[in-house]
Amino acid sequence: MKSANTAVTILGSTGSIGESTLDVIGQHPRYRVFALTAYRSVQKLFEQCLQYQPQYAVLVDEAAAQKLARLLADSDTRVLSGRDSLKTVAAHVEAGIVMAAIVGAAGLDSTLAAVNSGKKVLLANKESLVMAGELFMQSVSRSGAELLPIDSEHNAIFQCLPGNGSIKTGADLATVRKVILTASGGPFLDLPLEAFAAITPDQACNHPRWEMGRKISVDSATLMNKGLEYIEACVLFGLKCSQLEVLIHPQSIVHSMVEYNDGSVIAQLAAPDMRIPIAYGLAWPDRISSGASMLDLAAEQTLEFRKPDLQRFPCLQLGMEAAAQGGTAPTWLNAANEVAVQAFLDNRLAFNQIPDINAAVMSKIPCEAALSLDIIHKADKEARLLANELIVKANHH
Ligand code: NAD
Ligand code: MG
Repeated sequence: MKSANTAVTILGSTGSIGESTLDVIGQHPRYRVFALTAYRSVQKLFEQCLQYQPQYAVLVDEAAAQKLARLLADSDTRVLSGRDSLKTVAAHVEAGIVMAAIVGAAGLDSTLAAVNSGKKVLLANKESLVMAGELFMQSVSRSGAELLPIDSEHNAIFQCLPGNGSIKTGADLATVRKVILTASGGPFLDLPLEAFAAITPDQACNHPRWEMGRKISVDSATLMNKGLEYIEACVLFGLKCSQLEVLIHPQSIVHSMVEYNDGSVIAQLAAPDMRIPIAYGLAWPDRISSGASMLDLAAEQTLEFRKPDLQRFPCLQLGMEAAAQGGTAPTWLNAANEVAVQAFLDNRLAFNQIPDINAAVMSKIPCEAALSLDIIHKADKEARLLANELIVKANHH
C-alpha cells in the first residue's frame, strides 16, 4: 500500500461521467482531485472546486474562466483558461490518473496529452478513440500509458478477457471465439418506424436505463452509440470485425460477454450505474466500493436477448462498415454524427435524418490511411463541412 494518495485530473468534470467520478473519489481518501475542467459551466465548476479543493480548475471559455477566477479569489485553486490548459492539467507530473470524460472530438487533444505522458488514463471519451484509433493505440504502447476502458461494455469485455488482459500488452485472443457487445436498444427499440420523424430531443434523451449527457443519449437512441462502440472495441482489443457481434439486451444488466473456443461464455453483470466501471478503472487491478446498488437478480425482470434490426437502426450498420474500412472512415462518421446530433438537438434536423446525413457523408469518404494527427484533424473538418452543407440542403426540401 502506498501512503500518499493518488492525484486525479478529471477532464469534463461537470458532465455525467465527471460527476460520477467525483462521487466515487469522494468515497475513497486514497484519491484526491488534482484538476477539474469544463467548457463554460462556471457555477457547477465553482461548487465542485469548493467541495474537492483541486489545485487547478480549467474553463475553456475565457470569459467564464474570468468569472470563476473572481469567485475563487480566496481559494488555493488556480484557474486556467483555453484549450491548451486542458493539455497542461492532463499531462502534469503531479496527476497520476486522468479521467477523459469530455464529450466528442473536442476531447482528443487532451486525452492524447494524458496518454503521451504515460498516465493511467480512464477512457470515457470514446469519440477520441474512434476518430484516431490506430494513432491513439500507438501512442499508448509508445508511452507506456495504462489505458482502462470506462464505457460499460468495454469495461465488461476487459474484465471478461483472458488474464484480465492489460491493453498495454494486448490481450491474448488465441482462445477467444468472439466478443458479444450488448446494447440496450434505446428508448425507441419497438417504436413504429413511421413515428421516428416526430421524435423530439427531450424524448430521445429520456433513456430507459441510463442517465447520460444529451449527445450520447441521442446516440443511444439511434444506435450510433453502438456503432461507435463497435469501432471502439475493435481498436481497443485488436479484434477483427468477424470476432465481434452486437446483441440487443434491453435490461442493461449483462454489459457484454466473451465467448471462448470451448463454448464457455464469460459475462460481466452489474446494475446500470457508471460508478461501477469508474471505480474499477480507478483502482485496477484492485477493486473498491463504488456506491452503486448491488444487483438483485431475483427482483430483476427477465433478461432478454435479440438480434439488432439494422434496417431500423442504420447507424449501427454504418459503424460496422467504418470499422471494416478503417483509415479515416471512422473519423468521417464520428464527425458527421456529431454535427447531425447537434442539429437534431437544435431542432434543425429530424431524428430520422441523422442516419441519412451520416450515410451521405460516409459515401463521400476518400479512402485514406489515418497516418497522422494532421490527416485526422483535416478529415474531421472536411466531414463537418460536408455534414453541415447536407443539413442546410435537407432543410430546403
Ligand atoms: P456530458 O455532456 O454530460 O459532459 C461533457 C463534459 O465535457 C462537460 O464537463 C462539458 O463541460 C465538457 N465539454 C463539452 N464540450 C467541451 C469542449 N468543446 N471542450 C472542453 N470540454 C467540453 O457528457 P457525458 O455523458 O458525461 O459523456 C462524456 C463522455 O463519456 C462521452 O464521450 C460519452 O460518449 C462517454 N460515455 C458516457 C457515458 C454516460 O453514462 N454518460 C457512458 C459511456 C461513455
Ligand atoms: Mg456504452
